[in-house]
Amino acid sequence: MSKQLPRRMLIGSGGLAIGILMARRHIKPAVAEEETREADKIKQSDAHYQRFPKGPQRCQICLQFVPPDKCKIVQDPIVPQGWCQFFAARENAR
Ligand code: SF4
Repeated sequence: MSKQLPRRMLIGSGGLAIGILMARRHIKPAVAEEETREADKIKQSDAHYQRFPKGPQRCQICLQFVPPDKCKIVQDPIVPQGWCQFFAARENAR
């Protein structure tokens, strides 16, 4: 009986480790994928991004804007009142 207890504990902790590894496998690729996507975006300086509008043009009404502070093609964070050279107005933008 006393020899079985450590074995059971080992099996139990091994199961826990496997569970943790499996959980990490599910989390890590998603995190890496997210980081890669962000790294693949255009740098703000390359996009001539500015934190203020250019006339009526601003991120808030751009096709690439993802509320509250993201852009699909330029590295985050951006502000709704910002602007860059890739601005493209959404339909019915005001
Ligand atoms: S203006 Fe530029 S930074 Fe702003 S949402 Fe559009 S593409 Fe992104």
